[in-house]
Amino acid sequence: MAIDLVTRREWGARQPRGAYGRLGSTRGVKVHYTGGHVSPDIVGDHARCVALVRSIQNHHMDGNGWIDVGYSVLVCPHRKVFEGRGPNHLPAANGSGLNSGHYAVLGLVGSTGFTQPTDDVLHGILDAVEYLRDKGGAGDEIKGHRDGYSTDCPGGPLYAWVRRGAPRPGGGPTDPPEPHPSFPGRVLKYPPVMVGEDVRTWQRQMRRRGWDLDVDGLYGEASRDACRAFQREKGLSATGAVNRATWQATWEEPVT
Ligand SMILES: [Zn+2]
Ligand SMILES: [Zn+2]
Repeated sequence: MAIDLVTRREWGARQPRGAYGRLGSTRGVKVHYTGGHVSPDIVGDHARCVALVRSIQNHHMDGNGWIDVGYSVLVCPHRKVFEGRGPNHLPAANGSGLNSGHYAVLGLVGSTGFTQPTDDVLHGILDAVEYLRDKGGAGDEIKGHRDGYSTDCPGGPLYAWVRRGAPRPGGGPTDPPEPHPSFPGRVLKYPPVMVGEDVRTWQRQMRRRGWDLDVDGLYGEASRDACRAFQREKGLSATGAVNRATWQATWEEPVT
């Protein structure tokens, strides 16, 4: 499906207050969310998307003092891609010093209300990425705002999707389902530090789910704490030890 672009004229964008910095190419894109409350009603009402994009531009220009909305493009739940600064222009949303490396792609997803990116949001983000590769020399990387910058953005669900390699929803021949590795047969726990490939496998899956955990094959304090928080989130007994039930939940439970 071709990209469904909403031009600046179509969404009633204000004129930028100055000239953009030029970008010949980038290493890729960084994915953002709006944070804050996004009403779930947005899903049934595209007019709300237009209003939200305009309010973000106002906030960036009048609140942050930027010359324009900070994002390269903004993606709504109707798989429409709003033109922000666009390709070949320096964004402002990645954080100081991080804007020339990546274009900034926003998904209209909040931290409360509408928090789970729908398939159309994910497709729209990938449509936008292809557009930025095509027109703006964007490289292969798809990262989250929080990669290299201290922020919750783009939120747990979007970040977990980024970590999984930002697959097209619905899969396909290029996106086979992750095989679910069987329980290694020993409980992973700390102390003392446990070492092994099974630890690494579990850590990698936790990272895919959006947990900030080193994949080092060492089950120490950080792994135990992440495990305990995960167990609490999933209503498992919070032992901080990866038993069979916790191992299976790490692959089978939906990411929230
Ligand atoms: Zn962000
Ligand atoms: Zn929309």
